[in-house]
Amino acid sequence: MSFFDFIQSASSSSSYDMAIDLGTANTLVGISGQGVVINEPSVVAIERSTHRVLAVGHEAKNMINHTPDTFSAEHPLHDGVVSDYDITEAMISAFINKAAPRRYPWQPKPRIVVCIPCGATSVEKRAVFEATIQAGARQAYLIEEPMAAAMGADLPVTEPTGSMVVDIGGGTTEVAVISLGGIVTSSSLRLAGNRMDEAIAMHLRDLLGIKIGERTAEQMKMQIGCVFPKEEETTIEIKGRCLMTGLPKTITVTSTEMLEAFEEPVERILEAVHGVLERTPPELVADIANNGIVMTGGGSLVDGFDKLITARTGIHTVVAENAISCVAIG
Ligand code: ADP
Ligand code: MG
Repeated sequence: MSFFDFIQSASSSSSYDMAIDLGTANTLVGISGQGVVINEPSVVAIERSTHRVLAVGHEAKNMINHTPDTFSAEHPLHDGVVSDYDITEAMISAFINKAAPRRYPWQPKPRIVVCIPCGATSVEKRAVFEATIQAGARQAYLIEEPMAAAMGADLPVTEPTGSMVVDIGGGTTEVAVISLGGIVTSSSLRLAGNRMDEAIAMHLRDLLGIKIGERTAEQMKMQIGCVFPKEEETTIEIKGRCLMTGLPKTITVTSTEMLEAFEEPVERILEAVHGVLERTPPELVADIANNGIVMTGGGSLVDGFDKLITARTGIHTVVAENAISCVAIG
């Protein structure tokens, strides 16, 4: 049974109505019976003088780097947790409204389950909980993200066998071993896809003296980024600003250079995977060796991540089919 079936059966016995995956990069909203209805960037555009929310999601993201001083486009979540409470609340509330507008005041408010990284502190959990209630939930439940990811990826979470999930999002990487419906061992790193973008920008700045924006870095990561040598090198042409002259400059970057740029963040992720395996009881490690490791989250889509983890751990690793929506489905 997938977690979605579970939610559906649970909703008929009146449990939750809505699931929110509040990611650093993307927020997904699932409604029981309808599936994932919203998948938009976790960005809010705000008018500075009045603190009024002008736009959320795609619309707000397009404003980043193009904003005049009168309003700002912000990521209210850093490293997967609430860094700006009011903006987060405004964002959750805008997404809830978009997903399921309440047409009449007597309509019941939704009961909402929200995923949080398992590394979140109790203060951070509290903040997410409060923001969800303030944003219009009748009841709010929190669930740990790796658990939701594992359910979304259809792992046998409730069976007495160990499964391992590596979820690489925008801000956090979560590694967890799950068995019998609970998290046995886990590790949470405040480093993921965004850090890889920064690593590209730093690499280009230090080696070539070229400054690029965050959108360009992300685009490079998606198009030519790799963490395991590719059979055939690929290249991309990008525009940046030369730090020497201050003028625009076009350069060609290869996928091999991406390997170098990603070395530090990728090693940290591998260390986390190792660390979790080391702390896991041997019987469960044996299960994982049989069942393999499942990767989820947008960051796991960087070319070669599955190959790299397979090579380093000797355990067969696959990227879940619906890597980005796993958590919300769960
Ligand atoms: P979060 O749960 O933190 O919102 P997501 O799971 O949505 O994060 O993943 C967002 C990250 O995945 C971003 O850093 C984004 O750049 C990256 N990403 C999304 N699609 C791809 C892709 N096709 N290739 C590489 N990285 C990707
Ligand atoms: Mg996520």
